Amino acid sequence: MATVPGVLGPIDTADLGFTLMHEHILIANPAMRKAFPDWIDPEAHVEKATAEVLAAKQRGVGTIVDLTPINLGRDLGIIREVAARAEMQVIAATGLYWAEEPWLLAWPPDALVDWLLRDLVEGIEGSDVRAGIIKCATDHLGVTETNEKLLQVAAHLHRKSGAPLSTHTNVEQRVGPEQQNVFEREGVDLSRVVIGHCGDSQDLAYLESILARGSFIGMDRFGVDLILPTKQRVETLVELCRRGYAGQMVLSHDACCHIDWFPGIDLTAVAPHWNFRHVCDDVVPALREAGVSEADVTKMTVENPRRIFEAQGAY
Ligand SMILES: [Zn+2]
Repeated sequence: MATVPGVLGPIDTADLGFTLMHEHILIANPAMRKAFPDWIDPEAHVEKATAEVLAAKQRGVGTIVDLTPINLGRDLGIIREVAARAEMQVIAATGLYWAEEPWLLAWPPDALVDWLLRDLVEGIEGSDVRAGIIKCATDHLGVTETNEKLLQVAAHLHRKSGAPLSTHTNVEQRVGPEQQNVFEREGVDLSRVVIGHCGDSQDLAYLESILARGSFIGMDRFGVDLILPTKQRVETLVELCRRGYAGQMVLSHDACCHIDWFPGIDLTAVAPHWNFRHVCDDVVPALREAGVSEADVTKMTVENPRRIFEAQGAY
């Protein structure tokens, strides 16, 4: 039996079930929360997030992977409380989001690894809850010196812990292959990596170049219609299934029960499908409608997540 650390305890990988591989229970700037204790109302947020997680559960979701990195305000207490109230299997992440932060400049990768490894082997925030996955990110600036260091940190954490790697990319700048290059140089087996946000792209040649190197790709922003509407996302997914890549894709929304990036904007109005329900409610039915086989749907939603977490070897 293989297990993966969940926030409520170890999860048998056979019990992961339908898994959303890239979501966020909370994104809130940790420095602003520290400076202004009422930046968010934790109890109100827990209630709202619990309702959203329960709605996903009612639709058959078995596990939610919370890919919030430390510096986007990962809050284990809140993640755990929501998981407990909704009785949902949730896997938390460690890692640092892309950021050209001054404090990072002088840190050598392995000094950062020494700190972050604690999340994977001891527990997060002084608890005994271990992270089950490693997050890293490259955005529009590309693989800068600092970003390369953060990718190296993620690679070293992976090699020391065996936990899988999952990334954020900016597909406009086509940074997925550059991330793969860094991981390859660091000795990472690219089949242990999910290159995230690939569903933002309709460029099949770009996507196939990532797939050809063995990585999974995250079709993981369903509901972010402002970048690409669901219809186009589904068309790309259907075509990649037709080309035989269902075994290398995972589905999710990259949705946040709360995010403090868009003040004054009602996200339920601007992005009405950006929630934990859209894949179950609309995307899977659209795939079936387009002729994607039940076996391929099961691969992308159940079997691939299981393989990603089961391959963790000594972890
Ligand atoms: Zn995300």
